Amino acid sequence: MTEAILRDLRDLLLVDSTTGFSGPLDELLMEKCRALGFAPRHLNKGGVRVDLGGEGRPLFITAHGDDIGLMVRRILPDGTLEVFSVGGNPPFQTLHENVRVYTRHGRVLTGTVRRRNASLHTIPQADRDDPLDYGKNICITLDEPVYAKADTEALGVEPGNMVALDPRLVETDAGYIKSRFLDDKASCAAILAMMRAVASGEVKLNRKVYVFFGQQEEIGMSGACAVPEDVADYLAVDIGCVSPDTCSDERKVTITALDTSSPYNGELVKELADLCEARNIPFAIDLMVPHYGSDADVAMRAGIDARHGLIGPGVRETHGYERTHRDALESTYRLLCAVIEG
Ligand SMILES: [Zn+2]
Repeated sequence: MTEAILRDLRDLLLVDSTTGFSGPLDELLMEKCRALGFAPRHLNKGGVRVDLGGEGRPLFITAHGDDIGLMVRRILPDGTLEVFSVGGNPPFQTLHENVRVYTRHGRVLTGTVRRRNASLHTIPQADRDDPLDYGKNICITLDEPVYAKADTEALGVEPGNMVALDPRLVETDAGYIKSRFLDDKASCAAILAMMRAVASGEVKLNRKVYVFFGQQEEIGMSGACAVPEDVADYLAVDIGCVSPDTCSDERKVTITALDTSSPYNGELVKELADLCEARNIPFAIDLMVPHYGSDADVAMRAGIDARHGLIGPGVRETHGYERTHRDALESTYRLLCAVIEG
């Protein structure tokens, strides 16, 4: 199944979906769900919900398709662009990245996130030492012959334009996958693989299952929508952060026991870990602190009466140039199948 997950992941990564501009990704997700024989529903606010069928103990599984990105704030006098962050996207994570700027009239322009004064040989020492700041010393240079604000305006660029970062997908022979936006397209691909297993009859549903691909997770606004009244368990599928302070692993699925908001449901955490043990699925139980929130937290804060859990592939350098391994995708997929069969 890993090859199928990777194919879906590649497809999803090809579509820019900075939060607020996720229509084209919704279309792709709708198409993929229909191709599997399901009847997806598109939400007015963005996002796709699918009822997979099954009976009893309804389970809601969600991952998000939106990506962190940037937005044009204003055109500077030299024709470069000042930008503002969309989602948690500090300049140290975006500097030197290639981007696509989407104008209101449908033009797509390429460019790069740079320091405004960046040529090492000619930069004053004070500018070198300045902390990175989108409003002060970072800009986007368009790959167009622009020298003044009017030149850039003539291209149709204006405040409010979406700026999508290049995911820069690289797959290595050793099975590592390097790309931006593995958060959370890697999880979306694992869920699509689970749906494929249900559609083919390879996996039998032993409970009622809903899937939701949200499009506003990065700004905390999609977790509580499209949740049916009868839902008993709410399972968010999102990255497990690999860092010197966590025990998540790029080759395992992470089961999160606690994040910045609260502990996850202890019973559900135990059940998920027991399923991994019973099926020999490589996993790590971990704490995501101090800067982590999930769609499950949003749903709980909205008052949804369900047990909440969070699982997902181990990912390094989250919200930057992320890396995971195909084993983590496979483990996430296998745990998802175990949950819907259980
Ligand atoms: Zn995420």
